[in-house]
Amino acid sequence: MSQLHTQDASPESLGAARARCSPASAALRSAVRGFALFMHVSGLNAVRRRLSKALLGPRLIVLAYHRVNDFASDTSRYTVSPAQLDAQLAHIRKAYRVISFAQALQMRAEPQRAADAAIITFDDGYRDNYTCAAPILRKHGLGACFFLPADCIVSAADQGEAQAAPDHLARMTSEQAKALYDMGFELGAHTRSHPYLLQLPPDAAREEIVGSRQELEQRLGVAIPYFAYPGGKKGVHYSAELARTAAEVFEVCCTTTRGRNSIRTMDTLEVRRICVQSWWSLFHFARELEGTFDLLGRLPALWQ
Ligand SMILES: [Zn+2]
Repeated sequence: MSQLHTQDASPESLGAARARCSPASAALRSAVRGFALFMHVSGLNAVRRRLSKALLGPRLIVLAYHRVNDFASDTSRYTVSPAQLDAQLAHIRKAYRVISFAQALQMRAEPQRAADAAIITFDDGYRDNYTCAAPILRKHGLGACFFLPADCIVSAADQGEAQAAPDHLARMTSEQAKALYDMGFELGAHTRSHPYLLQLPPDAAREEIVGSRQELEQRLGVAIPYFAYPGGKKGVHYSAELARTAAEVFEVCCTTTRGRNSIRTMDTLEVRRICVQSWWSLFHFARELEGTFDLLGRLPALWQ
């Protein structure tokens, strides 16, 4: 049985609390909120947006969600409520053209015709992605890509002990994953068992990457051309060498390096994403998409 079946091994959620935070992080969140408000009210944000557009051209924003539920037992700061997702999707639909990775690759091939666009992704294959997020996405008429750890996505009949996991940690079944594909959503791989690849011997890391595509394609009977690195931070969770391995197998690879992608210059094998958090207001969410926090660069982003 995979470790993922018994505990939340997602690096994005370990130790994180949805409902509470330390005084230091509460103070930081207040400072971040204040910064966003100042940039917006002062008009500096509009100036920054125009400069950014002139210098870097149209942007591709890739959002990374994890779980979507109202379970009190789910305290991850990366879990959003159904109401939050609903409001965020309503905003995205109004403000951006939401596209698929397939469309992004076409856009990349013709950057002169590109415009600002957004892609919605979900990591880890939680069941609430199927039961809760997909209906909200469909209500808004939006697509998304679901990154699945192959070993966890098995048939309902084979799930067995995994069903004993707390509700919010349950994984979708392979039948549910296939149903998402049939609804028009994209599917990607997220390794086989969700390890931090840099902690594995090279051969094992390669097998996690290459084997995840093979296993998912065999089990679901559909093409799996996209990939997301568990953890997603270069030098911490994956290396340049592992990125080359992923490039042999996949057309697009997603990281959790925060920020937006320039469609002209983006590396489709190391796509930046914005990991959505539960404590964000809709105002904050909108500023994240606009790139308000790009100015803070690579500072240790404690709110990210
Ligand atoms: Zn993950």
